Order: sequence, then structure tokens, then C-alpha cells
Amino acid sequence: MFEFSSIEQYHADLKEEKLTCLQAVEYYLTQIQSKQRLNAFIEVYAGEALQKAKDLDKKRKSGAATGRLHGVIIGLKDIICYKDHPISASSNILKSRIVDSSQADSFGHADEQGFVSVYSATVVERLLAEEAIIIGNLNCDEFAMGSTNENSAYGRVLNARDETRVSGGSSGGSAVAVQAGLCMLSLGTDTGGSVRQPADFCGVIGFKPTYGRISRYGLIAYASSFDQIGIFGTSIPDIAKILEIIAGHDQFDSTLSSRKVDTYSGQDPDNKRYRIAYFPEALDHPSLDPEIARSIRDRIDELVQQGHTVEPVHFDLLDYIVPAYYILTTAEASSNLSRYDGVKYGYRTESRGIELTELYKKTRSRGFGTEVKRRIMLGTFVLSAGYYDAYFTQAQKVRKLLTEKINLIFNDYDFIILPTSPSVAFKSGEMTQDPIAMYLADIYTVMANLVGIPAISVPIFQHKISGMPFGLQVLSCRFNELPLLRFSNQLMQGH
Ligand code: GLN
Repeated sequence: MFEFSSIEQYHADLKEEKLTCLQAVEYYLTQIQSKQRLNAFIEVYAGEALQKAKDLDKKRKSGAATGRLHGVIIGLKDIICYKDHPISASSNILKSRIVDSSQADSFGHADEQGFVSVYSATVVERLLAEEAIIIGNLNCDEFAMGSTNENSAYGRVLNARDETRVSGGSSGGSAVAVQAGLCMLSLGTDTGGSVRQPADFCGVIGFKPTYGRISRYGLIAYASSFDQIGIFGTSIPDIAKILEIIAGHDQFDSTLSSRKVDTYSGQDPDNKRYRIAYFPEALDHPSLDPEIARSIRDRIDELVQQGHTVEPVHFDLLDYIVPAYYILTTAEASSNLSRYDGVKYGYRTESRGIELTELYKKTRSRGFGTEVKRRIMLGTFVLSAGYYDAYFTQAQKVRKLLTEKINLIFNDYDFIILPTSPSVAFKSGEMTQDPIAMYLADIYTVMANLVGIPAISVPIFQHKISGMPFGLQVLSCRFNELPLLRFSNQLMQGH
């Protein structure tokens, strides 16, 4: 039976003719079918994937040179455009009609097609150019707003480890697709933790690069100065390989750095001893599950025994960062989401006989879900004339202070370690009535996005009471992806 361990092993198996791309695609399609109840996929491109696999097998057998992602099977979060394929950001507003329970299957899927991408995201172009196979698009929180994947027009995603628990979010489908073996790797987006936190909840690797490392062209915007595409996988070399391929200069994204992308593959194994900082305030925080705190402290002791320098650094900004994040991101979202007005895209309310303002109001009221509406209103409020300085300007100051403080720490240390989330995956429904509690659970992830630095959740722990996995979060300074991945690999190997 087919079992995926790494891209390298897969390519070796293809070369030795132990396997074909077609067999791999067939295997994943069967898996997706049998685990449909997890609700990770919104669309599966079965026919296309099978055809592409056949073409690739033919090409390889003819002796022609193959791409670096030859036959690698990848899923995309439903927020990354793929030309001629439907995309909705898991929102009714990008569908052509509202899906209610009477029209949909038990998870909210309806058969009617909504908005279709008119071009592909740069990341998709680059994956395809290296012969990757895109197998489908993956469920997420509506417009990437959420931490549990319960804010999706397609319904929630189940955590494959314990189906009574959430997948995490907003890239819940992307995390579960890798966790449950429904594809080899997947892409998600991380505006405040949406790659790292679901990866943490599902026991896989979730990696968010530096802001400006991967093109956002073709990514549906939530908060443009925070959004970054991230990668889910099960091995560090695989993550590094995808990064090498999708990162780097793109004329369509002016916030992108033209710095060279370091190559991870081909490097010697890393046995470097690093300088690592941790924040006692983070590990002593009242919201943190004591067992998560204990496991991280034990791991710190091991790192010291292994010869790394691990030191406490005083950090007093922890309680300011979630408010700053929610003020700034909702402000950006209120502007970004103003384009969904019932005229240009997707869903439009019954328009006969009503005037334009009414059309906008009705379309947006019906098309957006509760959480998205809450954030648009919050963002509009913090930007309004009377409150701008009290909220938006203050939050920008926090962002600046935080960036200065973190940069100072990176003068002395290679990495900062933190928990990824204060708890393991919540039970479904546990947090839905309390949005503030849900926001506060982002305490450890939003910092990397406020500062624009790379961060990763490395799945190295298991919770003794619940049996659920959780990760260690490692952060590094801007564009320091290579050492970050090399250290993460050491963590995965246990040394
Ligand atoms: N949980 C965070 C939020 O709800 C993260 C979202 C994200 O990274 N897209 O905003």
C-alpha cells in the first residue's frame, strides 16, 4: 500500500518504478472519499488530477527531465486562486446564491457554482511549473477569520485525531488534509496564526515565512499588512522544498522582497548549537495549560543539556498584542471586504425594484457570516473619525514598540520559543458563543504577524490527559528561514 513519508522518498520510488503518479493520485482520491466526513475538502479535482498524473507518468517514462515537484500532490486553502476553478473563501458572498440548510448537504455544500478564479495565484503558477498536482481546495474559516474552522459556509472540519474536537483555524481543512493523509502537503494562509495554530491542533508542521517572502498575488485579502501564505507538511525538508519554489520576487506583489531565497536542500545536517530566548511571562501566563507549560520547560532543559544556550528574556507586552492585532486586522479587513457588494462578484440579493444602497446592504447582510460582519463593524468603528486615535493609532504604536523590542532580542538570540496555542484543540462548539475568549487564544501566534517575522509550529508533544498533539513554536528574525528550518529539523529529530 502507498505510504507517503517525504517528497524525496516518493521521487525515489517513482524512479525505481515501485510506484506511479497515477497510483498515488488514486490512493489519495480513495482516502478523500473514505474520510469525507472530516469535511476538509470543498472541491476535489479528481478528473484533472488523474489526467495530470497519467501525463506525468508518460513524461517521466520517456526519459524527459522532471520538475522539482514532479507528481507531488497538494491541496489549496479555498482562499488561493487557481484559474478556472471555483473559489469562495468559504463565504456565501462568493457563491451565486445563499446556501441554507434546506439547499445543502449536511455540511453546507450546494451544487451551484459561484465565483470562478480568472487567474492563478503566483504560488499556484510556481507549483504547477514544477509539475505539482493540485488535488482540490480546502475548507477554512470565512475569509480566514477564525480559530476553529467553525465560521465556514461549508460547515466545520473535524479533527482526525478526535472528531469531537475542532481542526483549528482558519486553515482547518489544510491542516486536516495533511493530518489525515488526504494529500502530501497543503497551502494555507497565516494572518494571525492560521497556519501554525491548526497545525498545532492536528500534530503536523505549520510554517509561516517572513512577511514579503511569498507573493500574495492571487490570495484573497483579509488584512494585507499581515497576510502571508504558509505551508503544512510532515517533514522539514518537504516544507523547505516548497518554500524554495514558491518564495521570492514577483512583479505582481510590490511588498515582496527581492532577496535571494536560501536553499535548504543539499545542506549538511545541522548540529549547530543556537542561542534561544524564551519569555517567562508567556510560560507563566494564566491562560496556558499547565501541561503545555511543563512540556516546554522540560524541552528547554533538554536543549540546554544538548549544548544550546536557552535564556529567559523579560517580555511585558504580551497582554497588548491580541488587542493590537484585532484592531489593526479588522481595520484592514473593513477596507478589503468593501469590494463584496453584490455588483462585482458572486452573490447578489434579489435586485428588482430596489435602489443601489439597499442592494449593497441586503447583499452584504445576507452574504457575510456573523464573524465577518462583527469584524467589518469593529474595523469600521476603530477607523471612524472620533475613535481613530484612541484605537487605530494606539494599536499602530503597539506594533512599532513590539517590532523594536523583538528586533532587539534578535540582536542577542537566534530564536524565540513560545507555545503555539494556550491549549490543545478545543471541543467543537466550546468557544463559539464567546468570541473574546476565542480571540485571546491567539496570544502566542499574532506576534509573528505584527512583526512580520517567520515562525513555525513543530509537532513534538502529546498531551497526557487528552492524548492530543501540540507543537513548539519557534520564531526567528526576518528572512532567517533557513536557520529556522534547520533548527526545527533538529527538534523533530529530538536532538
Ligand atoms: N485566529 C486568528 C483570527 O481569527 C488568525 C486568523 C488568520 O491567521 N487568518 O484572526
